Amino acid sequence: MQHAKPLWIKNPLATFDGQHQNSQHITNGIVVENDVIIQCLGAGETPTVQNHDVFDASQHVLTPGLVNTHHHFYQTLTRACPPALNKKLFPWLQTLYPIWAGLQPEQHAVATELAMVELLLSGCTTVSDHHYLFPQALSHAIDTQVTVAKSLGMRATFTRGSMSLGQDQGGLPPQSVVQSEQTILEDSERLIKTYHQKDDLIEIALAPCSPFSVTTSLMQDSATLAKQYNVNLHTHLAETEDENRFCLNMFGMRPLDYLESVGWMHDRTWLAHGIHFNDDEIKRLGQANVGITHCPSSNMVLASGICRINELKAAGVRLGLGVDGSASNDHSNLMQEIRQALLIQRLRYEADEFTHEDALQLATSGSASVLNRHDIGILAVGKKADLALYKLDEPRFSGSHDPLAALVLCGAYKADAVMINGQWKVKQGEWLGGDIQKLMKTHSQAASRIYKRL
Ligand code: ZN
Repeated sequence: MQHAKPLWIKNPLATFDGQHQNSQHITNGIVVENDVIIQCLGAGETPTVQNHDVFDASQHVLTPGLVNTHHHFYQTLTRACPPALNKKLFPWLQTLYPIWAGLQPEQHAVATELAMVELLLSGCTTVSDHHYLFPQALSHAIDTQVTVAKSLGMRATFTRGSMSLGQDQGGLPPQSVVQSEQTILEDSERLIKTYHQKDDLIEIALAPCSPFSVTTSLMQDSATLAKQYNVNLHTHLAETEDENRFCLNMFGMRPLDYLESVGWMHDRTWLAHGIHFNDDEIKRLGQANVGITHCPSSNMVLASGICRINELKAAGVRLGLGVDGSASNDHSNLMQEIRQALLIQRLRYEADEFTHEDALQLATSGSASVLNRHDIGILAVGKKADLALYKLDEPRFSGSHDPLAALVLCGAYKADAVMINGQWKVKQGEWLGGDIQKLMKTHSQAASRIYKRL
């Protein structure tokens, strides 16, 4: 339920507004009314509305609700899966495709719910899922996800993924998980018409999976359809050197040249990973105002490489953060992913060249910009009331001095309170929307079934 009266999130211990370090203009907190922020209070300021409730945030660090820009929810069913352990991307995918091919609708639904609740508990309020697996039984996979998101009340961009280049045509996935281009495009159009921006919470984007699993004509036609309906485009790109070699062999060009050749170099596009770009390619990405999702944990697990965040940022690329699928992370904790971003980028840059605020910015206003959303990821008047509040009351924080730095450096992983669209979804660290133990039981049973099927 939305708060009947305006709510003063009062005097937070520290605040990050999504853009600025030590956000002084919010020292005394914010006021929320219905689904938006109506006031940001500096030192000594109080709400101008008289009749309001109060949430005492004096023990909390306040941030915008975190925004996750890349995931594959169904992969929560194949975390730490023995045959796929310790493999790099291509053999890892080839091992998992046959397992994923057996995905059933009820397994997909519970995987979606578990992943979304896991993200929520970490302070994430907007999710984006890249679902590209449509075996015979799962033709309405995105409809299932929208139903789950609506029941949870989470903000979501569901990307209609696709694979059309099977092994028979020189692609990576088996034929059992690819669809015809006509089927994909018709379903894409249906989903846009049915769900895109019909309310505040749900958006649809189009997401052919990767150069090694999608036909050239589908890449082109998806871009045309996205332009027609003004929806975003998403895909994996420049994740590994193997992908570079595949593109050179298959198309006679590097991945970014291929992307340009199919009409994707513009501000409607965002890419997952974006690791293996050269200097000239980075410049072109910036000029085209493309977005990139940094996925540090996945890049480390699959030994894919390190995204060149600072060069991309300097070139003008929009940058956000994503946990990536749960078979290559293998968690869906966006707060922990912020710490991973800090740590992996410190291996590439000097200690003062990528800060904890830079990492927090990636997961808030950065991620919002990647999704072309201007109403979330920032604490400011008129923005959506999507909030995450963290307590520093565990041994890992004891003795810390800078509360904001402590969130990242001491390893926060659990929000104490989370609000989406003006409604509390988490209080005192507990999910308010259902029974987490019951959900985990159903989910783990589904995971057992999909793995044992082989
Ligand atoms: Zn991915």
